[in-house]
Amino acid sequence: MLKIKNLKASIEDKEILKGINLEIKPGEVHAIMGPNGSGKSTFANVIAGREEYEMTDGSIELDGEEISELDPEERAHRGVFLSFQYPVEIPGVSVTNFMKTAINETRKAQGKDEMPAKDMLKLIREKSELLEIDRKFLSRSLNEGFSGGEKKRNEIFQMAMLEPKLSILDETDSGLDIDALRIVANGVNKLKSKDNATVVITHYQRLLDYIVPDYVHVLYKGRIVKSGGKELAHELEERGYDWIKEEVDA
Ligand code: ADP
Ligand code: MG
Ligand code: MG
Repeated sequence: MLKIKNLKASIEDKEILKGINLEIKPGEVHAIMGPNGSGKSTFANVIAGREEYEMTDGSIELDGEEISELDPEERAHRGVFLSFQYPVEIPGVSVTNFMKTAINETRKAQGKDEMPAKDMLKLIREKSELLEIDRKFLSRSLNEGFSGGEKKRNEIFQMAMLEPKLSILDETDSGLDIDALRIVANGVNKLKSKDNATVVITHYQRLLDYIVPDYVHVLYKGRIVKSGGKELAHELEERGYDWIKEEVDA
């Protein structure tokens, strides 16, 4: 599904990503961990195509198509979802109405008709039940006065509604209390299918108690320096990152 080769990227002429290789197949959950400042968010943003990040080398293929020249919207329409994509506050626009617009815009870009109102309501009901989101929340103004946990819940709701092929969740655990964390993680687990894939980016192992990854990668100084199964996350929780830094810096 996603094939990344020798990906290099810079911010303001400083090289942050120094040659990343990663392959993700449908149905897989990959965790990307690593110390602060190692380039995790940069990696997520480069895949999504954010303009502040300059990709200087390598390739990003989604289902065999090179997407690195596409703008963020075009990538989204091909099924790439990055959390924090819509962090804006929109007074007077409810969570639900924002979602309706987003879905119909996506469908339009894909050459499809608007979703019939009845189907839309059904989808909203299904997904909000799945994620234990109550009606009151759905009618609130987007992100206005949202707590950290509510923002995360809204992001997962967006992900559920848009049914992306590839979801990238960056630090979805920060700002979540334990109950919200469980709901978000359950949501991710419930949305998992043989046709989609998820990249969970996290500094902490805690989220991975609930979202069990198939593969764990450690990013350090702009490179994937270690990959393994879910046991690698546990090892990192026990031992921290110092032993990896020592191995790499030696
Ligand atoms: P992580 O998510 O792993 O904590 P980041 O991708 O946020 O790492 O940051 C990687 C490096 O890029 C850091 O050294 C950080 O200071 C730098 N960086 C990130 N964003 C910017 C930016 N907008 N402008 C300048 N430097 C940045
Ligand atoms: Mg950081
Ligand atoms: Mg980050």
